[in-house]
Amino acid sequence: MGAFYLAALVILWAGRRGNVSRKLAAVASVVCLLAGSGALAAAVYPWGNSYGITVNRLQDLPGKGVVPATAGYMALTFDDGPYPPYTDRLLDVLKEKKAHATFFLVAEQAQRHPELVKRALAEGHTVGLHAFRHRDFLKLTEEERQKDLALGKKVLHDITGKEPVYWRPPHGFRDFSVMEVAAAEKLTVVNWSVIPRDWTGIGKQEIHNRVMDKAENGAIVLLHDGDSPFYKASRKATVDAAALLIDSLREKGYHLVSLEEYVQAEKRPGQ
Ligand SMILES: [Zn+2]
Repeated sequence: MGAFYLAALVILWAGRRGNVSRKLAAVASVVCLLAGSGALAAAVYPWGNSYGITVNRLQDLPGKGVVPATAGYMALTFDDGPYPPYTDRLLDVLKEKKAHATFFLVAEQAQRHPELVKRALAEGHTVGLHAFRHRDFLKLTEEERQKDLALGKKVLHDITGKEPVYWRPPHGFRDFSVMEVAAAEKLTVVNWSVIPRDWTGIGKQEIHNRVMDKAENGAIVLLHDGDSPFYKASRKATVDAAALLIDSLREKGYHLVSLEEYVQAEKRPGQ
């Protein structure tokens, strides 16, 4: 019996991080009920749209058409900006290489550097929301979560004139109720499939190699042009790695796209 309760708690813990499928949670819930623990059954059960879709690869994005089997698409995504001078330099690199990326912005940073947000949008990048303030959403109340997302959306809308539709939760942390708040705010949750851990002080070559090892069609790469919440660390290695990566990935035949660009490209017939 002890092992059974332990297993249920492990599922609950993993579920809070979005790592348990809806089906598995439902099965675990029924087992809990049969074993006589109504409370555990209720806790584990995936209520409502609490297990909403998390996009980990480009193919998961809603609103796209049929993915051509031969196409190799990848997306570079950058979190925690805008953060001068690294966001500026990164935009320079992307412009020079004619590549588009996706930025998940901390909205209170966006308020400090609105010109960088406008520039990213004007140069064809997708602007998504990371949070108004960079906090672990699992530790916030329902009201705090809702307020943070609504304010973050408003700030980005005020700067760009566009409502963000993609949201990356800080640290990727989400659970049933975080997903519900995201759905209520009409945000699609986007995490990643490749995580080179560029914030750990590794050099550009190591960042580059870690991404290349995991490169595949539809991969979404998590990188950082910012350093939330203190904004002290250098992001030079990431910016330099981005330049190397764009060249290497193109050599391998990948198209580098922003999330919006991918959805648009997939809608076009005959491609
Ligand atoms: Zn972050």
